Amino acid sequence: MTATAGALDTLMTSPAREFAATDHGAFVSGEYLAPGGDTVADIDPSTGEVIGRIADSDVETVDRAVRSAAAAFQGEWGGMLPGQREAVLHRFADLVEAHSAELAQYDALEGGKPVSYVEAVDLPLAVEQFRYYAGWPTKLVGSVIPVDTPDSHVYARRTPLGVVAAVTPWNFPLCQAAIKLAPALAAGNTVVLKPSELTSLSALRLAELAIEAGLPPGTVNVVPGTGATTGQALISHPAVAKISFTGSEAVGRHLGAEAGRALKHISLELGGKNPNIVFADADIAKAAAAAATTAYFYSGQVCFSGSRLMVERSVLDQVLDAVREHARGLVLGHSLDRSTTMGPLASEAHRDKVERYLDTVSGTGGEVAFGGNRVPGGGFFLEPTAIVGPADSDPVVTDEIFGPVLVVQPFDSVEDVLPRANDGRYGLTAGVWTTDVRKAHAVSQRLQAGTVWVNTYADYNAAAPFGGFKSSGFGKDCGPEGLDKYLQTQTIWMSLS
Ligand code: NAP
Ligand code: MG
Repeated sequence: MTATAGALDTLMTSPAREFAATDHGAFVSGEYLAPGGDTVADIDPSTGEVIGRIADSDVETVDRAVRSAAAAFQGEWGGMLPGQREAVLHRFADLVEAHSAELAQYDALEGGKPVSYVEAVDLPLAVEQFRYYAGWPTKLVGSVIPVDTPDSHVYARRTPLGVVAAVTPWNFPLCQAAIKLAPALAAGNTVVLKPSELTSLSALRLAELAIEAGLPPGTVNVVPGTGATTGQALISHPAVAKISFTGSEAVGRHLGAEAGRALKHISLELGGKNPNIVFADADIAKAAAAAATTAYFYSGQVCFSGSRLMVERSVLDQVLDAVREHARGLVLGHSLDRSTTMGPLASEAHRDKVERYLDTVSGTGGEVAFGGNRVPGGGFFLEPTAIVGPADSDPVVTDEIFGPVLVVQPFDSVEDVLPRANDGRYGLTAGVWTTDVRKAHAVSQRLQAGTVWVNTYADYNAAAPFGGFKSSGFGKDCGPEGLDKYLQTQTIWMSLS
């Protein structure tokens, strides 16, 4: 373990240090509201220390934000020409890139993700989202439709939905904000964003940068707060046209029901329990290294983490030894310390939840191969852990644990592994490791997963659709499909007779 206490003073640089130490209210119509009313403590999970306080935005604040977004949609943003919108979004991308070092510190501090990873992964992905979607406003062409009615001119236009309620999780705060804002704005909508109460700072700073980039006030509003208060007020607001949610299956089901009742558009990016399948004919060193990386990257708190490692029995020991070696080499420490390669879990409650899974394992034939213990100190650390051989029905196999707990399951053949890999609620991602190209295609196509990585893992790009099957949700992020969910089609019939 490396240094922990007083991270703000010793490990942060200005102006991030001052921004993090400030109590924050909502960002509405281009300015901050005073952080009055109820607040939640902003906690550094590497130390357990309180950094500052964040507003638990109430119904009135949310209403103000939604009305501001509706006014911008009817007004300045709605009236901008496509080329103007592109220019503004490119400036937004440039500003996010220019402020990367600052923004990375917020997500590292509040979420406990090693800052070097936030810089290397989250920030470039966020910038890429803005750049990719910035190019779209001038390409949203409609169509002219040949119909059998004489003297009719029929055409279809693609129009935005209106006010989008964007609700994001804590694991990729800035990146998830970008994944929602970039396509929603490119399609011409305005947004009210509710970040997770654990990680509000980068979203708030992003809203300031939006104004600096030239987005009209009200186009991007941020209402920090809890799901129960702020989130609920936002998604149930009658002027919200669409809910764009990324988070857990349980909350996704609740929002789906709410959207159904209110007849709002909704897209859901939910959890995963992702089978990463290593065949004996794979490049074992490469497969094992990637398996370990994806298992423990950000302490396993990633929706597409390869959290279920399925290994052909003849190479099980070899793969497990390599994963154990990787785990031993991880440097646990404060997320803002540049030598850290594994930080804490994002909150105390979340660590408790992860630990409860470890209690169930021995009853179903599994054993903890390594790890499983807390790391002493104030932060919410848990050792990198592997569980080998639990029954397929064990909750450690069926549930998304969302922690540094890798479940390892031996298998004997393609026909053995496929039904087991597909036998779960989720269908977000999967990995396949083999040097047999026919097997690679055959297995990939039979896997019920929205993304399959072959001889690689966790690649992501703004141009490549990403989103789950089954209980992992619906409505893709990225690529043209990422825009479709923020657009509707209007058909116009005109008589020429
Ligand atoms: P979560 O508990 O579902 O929360 C997600 C967001 O929903 C938070 O901002 C939360 O607020 C808010 N929320 C909770 N109840 C709400 C309500 N009644 N109305 C409106 N909003 C409400 O998820 P999390 O623990 O933050 O994140 C982890 C989950 O996200 C995992 O399941 C992970 O797999 C998933 N995830 C999926 C993807 C993907 O692309 N498929 C990507 C990243 C993460 P508060 O938490 O602030 O109270
Ligand atoms: Mg939560």
